[in-house]
Amino acid sequence: MKRESVGLVETRCLPLPDDVVLENGDRLREVSVAYETYGKLNKERSNAILICHALSGDAHAAGWHRGEEKPGWWDMIVGPGKALDVDKYFVICSNVLGGCKGTTGPSSLNPATGRPYGLDFPVITVKDMVDIQRRLLSHLGISKLFAVVGGSFGGMQVLQWAISYPEMVRMAIPIATSAYSSPQQIAFNEVGRRAITSDLDWNDGDYYGQAQPARGLSLARMIGHITYLSDESMHQKFGRRLQDKSEYSFDFSSSEFQVEGYLRYHGDTFVKRFDANSYLYITKAIDHFDLTRKGSIPLSEAFKGVRAKFLVISISSDWLYPPYQSREIIEALSANDIDVRHREIKSNYGHDAFLLESGQMNYNIGSFLSRSCVGDVMIRDVVTIGLGSSVEDAAKIMMEEGVTHLPVISGNDRLAGIVTAWDVSKAVAMKYSKLEEIMTKDVITSLLDDPIYRAAKQMNEYNISALPVVDKDQKVIGMVTGDGISRLIGCL
Ligand code: SAM
Repeated sequence: MKRESVGLVETRCLPLPDDVVLENGDRLREVSVAYETYGKLNKERSNAILICHALSGDAHAAGWHRGEEKPGWWDMIVGPGKALDVDKYFVICSNVLGGCKGTTGPSSLNPATGRPYGLDFPVITVKDMVDIQRRLLSHLGISKLFAVVGGSFGGMQVLQWAISYPEMVRMAIPIATSAYSSPQQIAFNEVGRRAITSDLDWNDGDYYGQAQPARGLSLARMIGHITYLSDESMHQKFGRRLQDKSEYSFDFSSSEFQVEGYLRYHGDTFVKRFDANSYLYITKAIDHFDLTRKGSIPLSEAFKGVRAKFLVISISSDWLYPPYQSREIIEALSANDIDVRHREIKSNYGHDAFLLESGQMNYNIGSFLSRSCVGDVMIRDVVTIGLGSSVEDAAKIMMEEGVTHLPVISGNDRLAGIVTAWDVSKAVAMKYSKLEEIMTKDVITSLLDDPIYRAAKQMNEYNISALPVVDKDQKVIGMVTGDGISRLIGCL
């Protein structure tokens, strides 16, 4: 299938009508959220996918801003024919709270003073950021996400989403992330912060309208950038090649090796697009992120109420968020019987592979999202029979409606049992006349969001050919049959 761009896009801004109360109890007034959307929300409002960006990302995930040379930061997987297929999904990406790309952060004006917040901006958490995204979704009329996806710090937001709003997340895809920041991650963040705060231009965070702490921020980015690559990718990309010369210069005046020039270039360009205080606040939120609540609960406990199905993606060469951190997430999810899949991207790129390995990312995310669920194949107009009916009633309904399975419904509309053509034959042989004498009371049921393979497995295990699909109140909303599944597989 041809993969295309979403084309020209614009970042929009939503001023939140109410104050925001943060996790630390502080209150933020006049918060705005910058966001972009791609594709169309369907009429059931069930096809929304939220993208959570990483440390230096923003709301511009895909497509082109007029006059810019580069597309959005995750254009690789967002667009027609790509994993986040905008012909199917309504894709949303917003800039995080504390950021500097349109959402309120330390560089925004403090309504109390009329000046940029600087260090008066409160210390925010990943949970605060997710809460703001939820407000954006309410504004867009979305009460349930088809999926939430993000890499690195974006993956932390994904985990927080599944925990904070379990009923709102159908599928969660945390990529190259961790359930808590490791000492190594905190250490690198701290070195970056120190680079910023020891730049005299930082001026205790009060530098707006003056020279910004460019040297510090650039250095922070250079340090960060090294952690996003890998030893192997650096060998491949730069080797020991010198920059524009063949001999050492025996001085410190310029970048001698190509890798030095590359880091300096990326440090310098970062300064043009990022705010030093945002770097401090976001890295602090990353450091504080810890689903084990400072080790006071096992990780499995943190995922207790989670309802989403998970695809956890790790990267083989990632030494900043090593694969063991993904495995910890998977084990904790599995301990709660949560449907979780793991895929490891085989790559030399290091942590950045989630932004670069187009083929593997599109394939793994695309196939996970398009995995069919029971709701896609179930029969919606289910013929049922009331508790208290006779075997003869059941036989008649089966004949007239051409069905072999009848869910039995009690007075309060709940599923009370199931009766099949097989049971009716038994009634004839044994001369039973009441439905209750032949119906099976322990009904094996399925849920709307269950993956097809699970329903098929249950049918196979119990040698039955149909499962009633029930909602959370045990009301029958459909029926999934072996025939329905065969038809689906036949046309795949
Ligand atoms: N394959 C056939 C079928 O699905 O009815 C016959 C085999 S099966 C062992 C027959 C028994 O399974 C019947 O007593 C029927 O009430 C029961 N049964 C059918 N669907 C069921 C379900 N979803 N949950 C529990 N029992 C079920």
